[in-house]
Amino acid sequence: MNKDLQDLIRVSILFGSDPSFVIAGGGNTSYKNEEKIWIKASGISLATIDENGFVSLSREKLKLISGKQYSADPLLRENEVKSDLHSAIVSPKNLRPSVETSLHDLIGYRYVVHTHPTKVNGVMCSQQAEETCQQLFGKKALFVPYTDPGYTLFKKVAEGIKKFSQDQGFEPQMIFLENHGVFVGADTTGEIETIYAGMMQAIDAKLDRQLPDTERKPINSKLIEQVDALHPGYKGYTAVGFKSGLVDHFVAGEGSFKKADKSFTPDDIVYCKAHYLYIPSSMNEPELMANARAKVTAYFDRYGYLPKVLALQNQGVIGVEESRKSAQNVLDVYENILKISFYSENFGGPKFLNDDQIAFIDNWEVENYRRKMAKS
Ligand SMILES: [Zn+2]
Repeated sequence: MNKDLQDLIRVSILFGSDPSFVIAGGGNTSYKNEEKIWIKASGISLATIDENGFVSLSREKLKLISGKQYSADPLLRENEVKSDLHSAIVSPKNLRPSVETSLHDLIGYRYVVHTHPTKVNGVMCSQQAEETCQQLFGKKALFVPYTDPGYTLFKKVAEGIKKFSQDQGFEPQMIFLENHGVFVGADTTGEIETIYAGMMQAIDAKLDRQLPDTERKPINSKLIEQVDALHPGYKGYTAVGFKSGLVDHFVAGEGSFKKADKSFTPDDIVYCKAHYLYIPSSMNEPELMANARAKVTAYFDRYGYLPKVLALQNQGVIGVEESRKSAQNVLDVYENILKISFYSENFGGPKFLNDDQIAFIDNWEVENYRRKMAKS
């Protein structure tokens, strides 16, 4: 293996194993030379990646994608792009390159590390994302307003990079995506680390309030043991739960929970679904169970699927999924949503994805594939 790929693996593991940068299977990294780009395969975790976790693609073939005219229907279009992406693979053909491959290819630096850092998203998922980005990084960063992931986002970023380069005379090394995360590009992995360190320092200086205690404590609830009694669709599902100072802050009442009842990013939807269910506490357990059953049923009728996150007033949060591991994943991602919401208060408060943006992700097959891979 050549040294460039060794560097890519090292920096991938470095950021991938830090939960303040990457949760669950999120984030991706790449290295490119003139002819080829090596990018993390979809469904592979950065924290444990080795040379077998990367796909190499022909950059010449990737360039065809940006010039081609695709179907106007978003789902057809994404499938067409996916098939062109597959045709660009050099090796191995059995892995699926990250859906953000074309985006990585656009960035004019050899290494790209794309993550969803909690603090960055405290800014990016806030009411003042753009102005804060401008304030903190000025002309050194490119800010891209929220755009549906996939080809539309790719086109938007391409446009942004082109305009940035014309105006500034160099290509952007920091590209911030609203309600998503950040791409950092550099010709060495050392420089990538330096840029990220500077970015975190700049955001830290803007955070007035310290995060409440995040130490997880167990909760005892009949809801955890008997989650399958809440809805027939939960049959065979597992629930796990915890509480912490951070959780307490949000589950104290319906009003405080409003600040954490929806998804901030496409990844949140992939792991946790888009809406989180608040269940008021009751004096006794039978009443609580009946209440929870009614709430879960109403949720199911409204959205067509069951909630993965249940928030119990004054008690804690519960993740429900097919396995213990995936239920734990749900809670990891949801806890991150709580942190982002808390940090966003420094920047005008939280800004969730809207209904159209949520619907696009819900319908997107590519994300379903990731959901499947995340569970395996
Ligand atoms: Zn991403």
